[in-house]
Amino acid sequence: MSLIVQKYGGTSVADPERMRNVARHIAATRAAGHDLVVVVSAMGKATDNLLQLAHQVSTNPPSREMDMLLTTGERISMALLCMALHDVGVDAMSFTGSQVGIITDTVHTKAKILEVKGDRVRAAVADGKVAVVAGFQGISTAKEITTLGRGGSDTTAVALAAALRADSCEIYTDVTGVFTADPRVVSQARKIPVLQFDEMLEMAGAGSKVLALRSVEFARNHDVPIHVRSSFTWEEGTWVVGRNHERMKNMEEPVISGVVQDASEAKLTILAVPDRPGVSAALFEALAGANVNVDMIVQNTSTAGTTDISFTVPKADVKTAEPIVSRIGKELKAGGVTHDEDIAKISLVGAGMKTSPGVAAKMFRVLADNGVNIEMISTSTIRVSVVVRAAMMQKAVQALHSAFGLDSGDDYSAPLPERK
Ligand code: ADP
Ligand code: ASP
Ligand code: MG
Repeated sequence: MSLIVQKYGGTSVADPERMRNVARHIAATRAAGHDLVVVVSAMGKATDNLLQLAHQVSTNPPSREMDMLLTTGERISMALLCMALHDVGVDAMSFTGSQVGIITDTVHTKAKILEVKGDRVRAAVADGKVAVVAGFQGISTAKEITTLGRGGSDTTAVALAAALRADSCEIYTDVTGVFTADPRVVSQARKIPVLQFDEMLEMAGAGSKVLALRSVEFARNHDVPIHVRSSFTWEEGTWVVGRNHERMKNMEEPVISGVVQDASEAKLTILAVPDRPGVSAALFEALAGANVNVDMIVQNTSTAGTTDISFTVPKADVKTAEPIVSRIGKELKAGGVTHDEDIAKISLVGAGMKTSPGVAAKMFRVLADNGVNIEMISTSTIRVSVVVRAAMMQKAVQALHSAFGLDSGDDYSAPLPERK
């Protein structure tokens, strides 16, 4: 008998009817003879609404209380899904992250999972029940309730699948798999049947939100095959597996697997800092100490002994980062600090890039021909990323998708549910 972990995202459980559909699918999976652990996200836009509410009562909500608030979204889903399962004759039991023993570090609103105990889930499954677990949350080593960062239910699901040694982890969402670009941005995006962990890791790291980055890290480290698929059509989706997995056999490595866009970061610039050893260390040590995730960094060549340093951080971290950067700017007698939220990052990802020179050059040419100015550049062995004006994002992604031969010739055909 195989054990499957299924995760249902917000759109998949957005209303009572969707919830009942999911319950029926779980019943069918059980009837096919599988043991099942289910992870649920908050219904529809519940997390966004809770965040809004928090900002309506406070200008700077304490992160501990934010976690208390946000975890309620997933608790609602887990209880309702168990009720719907009861109605279709499936014996199910819901658990919060803390009940399951999802132990995290103490960084509120973006905690990292340190360990998954899972005893209660194992006991429920051994008892013939479906265990329904609230995604996106855990309990810290200081016994506080934590959340895992936006999109964190994916991480709960894969971490549980790893801890329980599940045969696979199915991520149900509102598109039919992982595509060569976000099908909401590029209608001609193509579904990718199989992807390597390393490629998915770069796509997630570049900001494709179809899978949370940490979930892919868990999958790679513990070799958990992920199947990304739709809870609207239930068709075969995209498998994300290790390079030596049997599904990878006879698959050629495409030069470009996908184009990824990300509008969730902001650019901070510290102007006219002295060009001497220790400046970057002081700046980025302070940011790291405050758990700010710095992504791209560009330092200009110095003129008259000073230089500008620009870097990107998640928009959600700007409020934490700005006072730190200003303080360090004053200490260094810098020329000032600016911040810019109207940026977008666009990345090309593909394992075949390693052996195929000229990808970056072609990317820059395509952007130039489309009048898109490049503000920052960074690369890895299988990724090239640029920062451009946010207003140019859609045009740039579409142009690159076409220029690199990724267009399918057909528009995306499955339902693209509007997310209210
Ligand atoms: P869920 O609530 O199910 O976790 P998310 O919104 O987190 O769903 O992720 C699914 C969304 O990811 C899709 O609706 C799609 O717009 C977006 N997306 C971005 N890039 C891609 C891609 N390359 N392939 C598929 N979907 C993508
Ligand atoms: N509900 C959380 C969010 O909206 C977690 C998730 O859906 O994965 O980010
Ligand atoms: Mg998600």
